Amino acid sequence: MPKQKINKLLIGTNNKGKLREIKSLLPKNIEIYSTSKFNLKSPIENGKTFKENSLIKSKYFSKRTGLLCLADDSGLEIDFLDKRPGIYSARWGGKKGDFNKAIKRVYRELNKKNKNWKLRKIKARFICALSISYLNKKIACVQSKIEGYISNEPKGINGFGYDPIFIPKGKKKTFGEIKPAKKYKIDHRYFAFKKLRKFL
Ligand code: IMP
Repeated sequence: MPKQKINKLLIGTNNKGKLREIKSLLPKNIEIYSTSKFNLKSPIENGKTFKENSLIKSKYFSKRTGLLCLADDSGLEIDFLDKRPGIYSARWGGKKGDFNKAIKRVYRELNKKNKNWKLRKIKARFICALSISYLNKKIACVQSKIEGYISNEPKGINGFGYDPIFIPKGKKKTFGEIKPAKKYKIDHRYFAFKKLRKFL
């Protein structure tokens, strides 16, 4: 645990959607740095869990910049697909990170499992692991989630990734239809941040 309160923090992501959301969740007194300033590529995520991949990223970006780094690893687990795409959520979008491609793959895999999948409620959850590292040292690592369902078709244009196909439990709209400011207050990253707050 750091002895002093954090006042400078690098956000270890090259994903603009995540960067926007993480910025909105951080206390305003923290000076935020993004990876684009350092022109750094993303590391190879060869961990087996969200937490492991999050630590790979926060350590990698911290070592390359000398800054304290916060990174997340997140993804969508679909029960009917045996929890896939899970830690491979970004990779289902291919090399270019094409979210439409990833969404098409979800529907293709659901159809492969059962042509009548739309008659069922397809349970899913977004998971978010967040970590803070300084060089090779783990300062904190937490994980949280939000439960929900897969929509029968993509809806809405807000957000990024799988937002247009995820309906949070208790709601009728997909994350793609819900305003970002509202989504940021109920999602997996928000609850992971709540757990991380005592370190900030
Ligand atoms: P990674 O954590 O950078 O490996 O990527 C996680 C992937 O999961 C993203 O590229 C998205 O496809 C998906 N994902 C994570 N969080 C969200 C979210 O809040 N909305 C939509 N998709 C998400």
